[in-house]
Amino acid sequence: MSRIALYQKYRSSTFEEVVGQEYAVRSIRNAVHSGQVGHAYLFCGPRGTGKTTMARLLAKAVNCDSPQKAPCGECENCRAAEEGSHPDIIEINAANETHVEDIRDLIDRARLASMLGKHKIYIIDEVHQLSSSAASALLKTLEEPPAHVIFILATTDPQKLLPTIISRCQRFDFTKVEKSLIQKHLLHIASQEGFELESGAADKIAELADGGMRDALSILEQAVSYSEGKITEEDINRVYGLASTDQKIALLSAVFSNDLTETLRMIRDYEAHGIDLKRLTSELMDVLKDAVIYGYTQKESLLKVLNKSQAVHLSAGHKAKDLLRMIEDLMKAIESYKTAQSVASYFEIACMDMMAAAEPVSFRDEPKPIETEKPKAARAPAMVSAPEPVKEETFSPEIETMNLEEPAEESEPADACQEDNHLKNNEIPEMDEDLVLRLLVQCNKDAKAEDTEKLKKLTEGLMMDRYAAALRQTTIAASGADCILFSVSMPAIANNINEPKFNRGLYEYLKRADIDKMPFAACESVLKRAVSSYRTLYAEKNLPERIVIERYKEDKTEEEKINPEQRMKDIFGDDMVEVIDEGKD
Ligand SMILES: [Zn+2]
Repeated sequence: MSRIALYQKYRSSTFEEVVGQEYAVRSIRNAVHSGQVGHAYLFCGPRGTGKTTMARLLAKAVNCDSPQKAPCGECENCRAAEEGSHPDIIEINAANETHVEDIRDLIDRARLASMLGKHKIYIIDEVHQLSSSAASALLKTLEEPPAHVIFILATTDPQKLLPTIISRCQRFDFTKVEKSLIQKHLLHIASQEGFELESGAADKIAELADGGMRDALSILEQAVSYSEGKITEEDINRVYGLASTDQKIALLSAVFSNDLTETLRMIRDYEAHGIDLKRLTSELMDVLKDAVIYGYTQKESLLKVLNKSQAVHLSAGHKAKDLLRMIEDLMKAIESYKTAQSVASYFEIACMDMMAAAEPVSFRDEPKPIETEKPKAARAPAMVSAPEPVKEETFSPEIETMNLEEPAEESEPADACQEDNHLKNNEIPEMDEDLVLRLLVQCNKDAKAEDTEKLKKLTEGLMMDRYAAALRQTTIAASGADCILFSVSMPAIANNINEPKFNRGLYEYLKRADIDKMPFAACESVLKRAVSSYRTLYAEKNLPERIVIERYKEDKTEEEKINPEQRMKDIFGDDMVEVIDEGKD
């Protein structure tokens, strides 16, 4: 690779090549092409957003011999500007204070005629750092600008400038470059330079650069030097002390499981590997925020840092308000880092706080909140700072009432052959009101009481595992001979429980409590509607038929479970599999 810094090599040489800053680019290009360039410009904005690049472009363009296509890149003026040898383009970095007097003299000499081009251009970087004598020389020149002179001032800190200077300039505010634009530019450069850059790595670099293209390119440059062949996201994480998303999820999982030993082990491991715990803290907030948003909305498109399966995993089994409390714990930790001797120690405390927040409530003593009619998705992020109290009504009394009225025997057992009334295992359709209703008709109060008791004993005595964790976020809404129906607060939890693989595991798990029934989960709001329909239909003596439920088949051996042929038969039936076999011969 060339030894010229990537940022210099890929500095935009035309207005079209500038990444981002569309407003400034358009305005300045139009001014150049219409011959209406002003005498003083002020470019404000964060570092690395292209202020100096734009200043040099403007300087080159105003002296170009072909104003209509300026900068042409071919004329003597353009070539001299590109080589940095144009006698009429004077660059001053005010942050460099070694030649304070020289700077004042330079500005004083602005009145002298230009040498090669039509205009004499002063580019003054970090202009807020000019000495007061230089600043007053500048102001004097700006008050009566010679016709051939153009000043381009750039600063990250415009509020430190004299208002009298600002008021004499056309001001452009440069914004942070969008992450996606930076990512695209990085991938473009990688392909030009002939090295492989993973899209995830480009994304990570763009995130680290925080809107600064120059920073992005210097990170890329470093990445090229330490990567062998392909630059991966892992490379970037390692060098910049970042935890991967999987590491963050692992840490949160340990916190969710109340496993302090493992949590502390992980933190010390991260520390030993140079992971920046401050940064990790704010990244964990982003992860939890995604989990809350997904829990409310189920929309993958709203996720910023997690993918769908990660979001399902993290949102399942937790109440939004607990996750929000954990976010608050992390915010507090960030606040305390400002005065902390040891960030690690405060981070550990934050994790312990989060454990308390994540501690699942027991079935007995805390009722589940009822989801309000409208999803709270849009408000979720705002709730981080001021969580609204969740409506704490219990769902159970409604079910109780239903049970009192409900004589399960009254419902006629359905014809098992009727396809649409037959729920096969591994096929839990959407838990809509209708399906819940057809489960409810086969439930009864005694079964519910019995199962509640059994489950309580099972979960109380056990260490946390994924099934116990999921069950702790449920209440038994209803129980029958073949099914157990759980009520949960968020759709994500219901989806997780009904997901075939998890559901099968949960079925086996429940057997340990002597509950041999198919588990189902439905959201409280769905249950509430189903119970209300139940009442109406019961009064009209018009209850639907119960749905016929098949249990999972007896636990097979490991070999049988993964036997693809058996799986095909399970799915398509014996005939179909034989046909496929014949076709092969
Ligand atoms: Zn030119």
